[in-house]
Amino acid sequence: MDRYEQVIELAKRRGFLWNSFELYGGTAGFYDYGPLGSTLKRRIEQIWREIYVIQEGFMEIECPTIGIEEVFIASGHVGGFSDPLCECKQCGEAFRADHLIKHIVEEADGLSNEELDSIIAQHNVKCPECGGEFGKTYEFNLMFKTQIGPGNGRKGYLRPETAQGMFVDFLRLARYYRDKLPFGATQIGKSYRNEISPRQGVIRLREFTQAEAEIFIDPRNKKHPNIQRFENTLLNLYSDEAQDMGESQIMTVKEAVSKGIIAHEFLAYQVALVNHFLQRVGISPDKLRFRQHRKDEMAHYAIDCWDAEILTERFGWVEVVGIADRTDYDLSAHANMSKTELSIYIEYEQPRMVEKFVIRPNMGKMGPVFKGKAKLIAEALKALPKEAFENDEIKVSVDGEIFIVPRDMVEFAHETIKVSGENIVPHVIEPSFGIDRIFYALLEHAYDEEVVSTKDSVEHNDEETRIVLRFKKEVSPVNVAVLPLLTRQELIEPSKEIANRLREKGLLVAYDDSGTIGRRYRRNDEIGTPYCVTIDYDTLKDGTVTIRDRDSMQQVRAEVATIEEVLYDMIYRDKKFETAGKPV
Ligand code: AMP
Repeated sequence: MDRYEQVIELAKRRGFLWNSFELYGGTAGFYDYGPLGSTLKRRIEQIWREIYVIQEGFMEIECPTIGIEEVFIASGHVGGFSDPLCECKQCGEAFRADHLIKHIVEEADGLSNEELDSIIAQHNVKCPECGGEFGKTYEFNLMFKTQIGPGNGRKGYLRPETAQGMFVDFLRLARYYRDKLPFGATQIGKSYRNEISPRQGVIRLREFTQAEAEIFIDPRNKKHPNIQRFENTLLNLYSDEAQDMGESQIMTVKEAVSKGIIAHEFLAYQVALVNHFLQRVGISPDKLRFRQHRKDEMAHYAIDCWDAEILTERFGWVEVVGIADRTDYDLSAHANMSKTELSIYIEYEQPRMVEKFVIRPNMGKMGPVFKGKAKLIAEALKALPKEAFENDEIKVSVDGEIFIVPRDMVEFAHETIKVSGENIVPHVIEPSFGIDRIFYALLEHAYDEEVVSTKDSVEHNDEETRIVLRFKKEVSPVNVAVLPLLTRQELIEPSKEIANRLREKGLLVAYDDSGTIGRRYRRNDEIGTPYCVTIDYDTLKDGTVTIRDRDSMQQVRAEVATIEEVLYDMIYRDKKFETAGKPV
C-alpha cells in the first residue's frame, strides 16, 4: 500500500470519504463526505471564511450552480473549455491524450491535437486497458449540459467554476460597496467538470467544491494598502525563471515584488494570504510551493498567475489554488455580451482641465437643405469621431438612412472643459481554491505512523504501530473524546455530564464507552482527536479527570470544575497542555 492507499483506506474506514453510489458499483470522479469528512471540510471552509470574508471583508454571495448559455459564451467556456480526448478503437475507453504521453514529453499541456496524434503514433502508444489502437484526438468540452424548462427550454450548463456569478453580479456588487475600489466578493460552492477519465481519486473530481474570491481593483493602482502585514513573510517561489533552473527559491514578499518576480504588490499580498491560509489549516510548509505560470501556459489576457502546489506522495506536486491577475478580461467579455457597461466611475482627486474637439453643425446652412431632418442629422454629426471629417463630404446615418453633408456645413473648435472623473473597468485579482484537494492534502500531511509501546492499553504489553492524524487542533473534526474508563453506570453518568458541558461550550465532542480504553485512544488517534478526557473512580473522589494529549500521549490530571475552559483554551487559544493539570 502506498501512502495514498493508506490515507484513503483510513478515510473510508473512519467515515471521512466514501465512494459515491457504492451500492451500485460507484462511478469515477465522485466522492461522498462521511460524518467526519463533512465536519473537517466545513472547518476548512470556516477558516477560509474567517480570512476572506471576515478579515479581508469580501462578502459572500450565492449564485445558482446552473448557468444560462450566454454567461458561458461570454466567459469563453462554451468555445474553449475543453481537453483533448482520445478513444481506443478496440474497447472504446476514453483517455486524455496529453496524459497518455506524459512519460514521453515533459510539457504536454500546450500541444495541438495533431501534435498529440503524431507523438502517439511515433511512440506507438497503445490503450493501457486492452492494447488497442487510438482514434484521432478531438476536443471534448468539459461542461455538463442541461436544459432549463421543458420542451425546447433554454440551454443551460452546470457551472464549471463559481467565479462567473460574481462577474455577472458586478454592478450590484459595485452599488453594495458604494462604487469604491477595491472591493471583493466570495463564493464557496459546487462546481462541475465532466473530466475525461478521472483516475486520480479525490484529486480530479467531476463535482467538487471551490472557494473563490474575485477582487476588483483600480488598474492604475496595484499597490496593497496592507502589504506591510506580509512584507517579511517567506514564500517558496517556483518562478518562471526558477523553473528553468529546476529549483524553487525561498524569499520574502518584499523581495519578490522589488525584483519583479511577482508582477505587483496586490497580487503578492494575495499569494501571501493563500500561503497563510494553507499553513493555518495544516499544510506542511516544506510541502508547499508557488509555481508561476510559464509565458506560453498563461491565458493571453492575464498579467501574472501563480498556482499554490502541494506535494503528495502519489501525485507529486498538485495544484490546489490558482491566483491570477485576470485584468479586465471577464468584465469586458460580459459587457460585450450583455451590451451593458460594466465599469465604475472614479472621481479624480483634483478635477482636470481637458481639451476637447467639438463639432458645431451650422444650422443656418443645414436647415434649408435637410429641412425636418436637419436637427437629427446635426445630432448624429456630433457623435462622429474626428476622423469622419477628413473628407469634403461627411457620411452620416439617421434611422438607417444615409445623408451626405458637405464639410462647409460643419465648424470645428477645441474647447477646454473641466472633467472630475472617468469610468474605468476594474481589473480582477482572483484566488481560486479547490477545497477537496486541500482536504486530501491535509489528510496526507497529517497522516503519521509510529511504533509505540502499548502500555496505555490494558490488554497487551508490547509494541504496536499507532496511526495518528496530526491535524491542527482547531481543524480536527472531533475536538475532544470523552471516555468513561469502564462501562459502569457510576462512571457513565458523570462522563455524559462532562460531554454535555463541553458541547455547550461549542466543542465537538465524541462520547465513547465501547471497548478497552487503549482501543478507544487508538480510535481517536486515527481520527485526529487532539484530546481525550477519561473519567475514572478518582474522578468521583477528587473531582479530577485525565486529559491525554494525542501527539505526545502524555497525560495530566485536571480539575473537572474548569474542564471546558481549559480544553477550549488549548484548542483555540494556544494554551499549553502542560499547564492544564498535574502530570500523571
Ligand atoms: P481552475 O479554475 O482550473 O484554475 O481550478 C481552480 C482550482 O479548482 C484548482 O486549483 C483545483 O484546486 C480545483 N479543481 C479544478 N479542477 C478540479 C477537479 N476536477 N477536481 C477537484 N478540484 C479541481
